[in-house]
Amino acid sequence: MRTLSSWLSIPPDSDFSLYNLPYGIFHTGDGRARAGIAIGDRILDLEAAAESGLFGKRRFFRKIFAQNTLNEFIALGKPVTGRIRKKVQDWLTQPSAPANAEHLLVNRLSAHMLLPVRVGNYTDFYSSIEHATNVGKMFRPDNPLLPNWRWIPVGYHGRASSVVVSGTPVRRPWGQILPAGQDTPVFAPSRQMDFELEMAFVIGKDSALGEPIPVDKAEEYIFGLLLFNDWSARDIQRWEYVPLGPFLGKNFASSVSPWIVPLEALKPFRVKGPKQNPAPLPYLQARGAQNYDVMLEVAVSAGEKSVQTIVSRSNTKYLYWSMAQQLAHHTVNGCNVCVGDLMASGTISGPDTGSYGSMLELSWGGKEPLRLNDGSSRAFLENGDKVIMRARAEREGIRVGFGEVDGVILPETNR
Ligand code: MN
Repeated sequence: MRTLSSWLSIPPDSDFSLYNLPYGIFHTGDGRARAGIAIGDRILDLEAAAESGLFGKRRFFRKIFAQNTLNEFIALGKPVTGRIRKKVQDWLTQPSAPANAEHLLVNRLSAHMLLPVRVGNYTDFYSSIEHATNVGKMFRPDNPLLPNWRWIPVGYHGRASSVVVSGTPVRRPWGQILPAGQDTPVFAPSRQMDFELEMAFVIGKDSALGEPIPVDKAEEYIFGLLLFNDWSARDIQRWEYVPLGPFLGKNFASSVSPWIVPLEALKPFRVKGPKQNPAPLPYLQARGAQNYDVMLEVAVSAGEKSVQTIVSRSNTKYLYWSMAQQLAHHTVNGCNVCVGDLMASGTISGPDTGSYGSMLELSWGGKEPLRLNDGSSRAFLENGDKVIMRARAEREGIRVGFGEVDGVILPETNR
């Protein structure tokens, strides 16, 4: 295993190790968006690296990286993106600093991150059995897990236009809400603002309309992963979701982390998923370790300057349905997928109360408010609250982190 050269000092607790090399889109105050790879506290400027001839075909790669999304780069396919990754690893592990190092490496902490992909379609699954059971208990106490749940990786088509990058504030939405014990809704700002701790994958290869993606080929279509906060207004959701599922309680905003961790970087963290009972139908049966062991956490702070409270610690390994199963199911009817599409996991809750991935579950429908470190308590999110999600995989000295996705709740507009 290669180690980092001493010329490039990486903080030991950095999310962005040599094994990670996630892709993002950034600018440095000049508004000139370009692609980069995070390494420690730096960003390798891929446009400048292409210009320097690091990848060959200077003009071609310069044009690919001098863009405000990664879609064209991702669409080149894994043989090409894998070769770029290898070139960057070689460049970073040479014995002494190359002459152009200072020119190609940008200070990451002063860079401004943009949405890394142009999202054509966004799908949200519901793949955590703990989350589905918890929500079911609150909404339908006698029948928590619906009979189809263990057969189908349940999902719905979300809204791509309102996917925003980390750091974008989220405005408290107005909507129809049915007050408790009444039969006529009111039009009011949501009083039950929530987050959902999720992981999403980015589609890396178009599929053809009419041609399902087999479960054992599904990962060929996954470019990488990022953190995903599926903001939810529970009071709006509760009134609208029967009969057709989530709509305005969800589509006002979803936040993603700025760095896409390539799927290759997660190989050392593959683990077996939970035992599936009953055995899924044949088109959903996959061999081998299908899940990933990635630690997740959610912190909440009352305002930008307030102390953070970790409210949840979970892990992607708890997911009942794997990404490969989600994608096989999504396309089994012939639905096609496109480069840049996002597929989110659904809220990732673990088995213990401290591992629930939403306020709805953590405060059990608002009945058991959480205590924050500043002494205040929360049933749901207040205006000015900041939610920060982090993810990191670690094994035998190898660390692959996702960085953060955060967002602050802004008060509703006057109506
Ligand atoms: Mn969700």
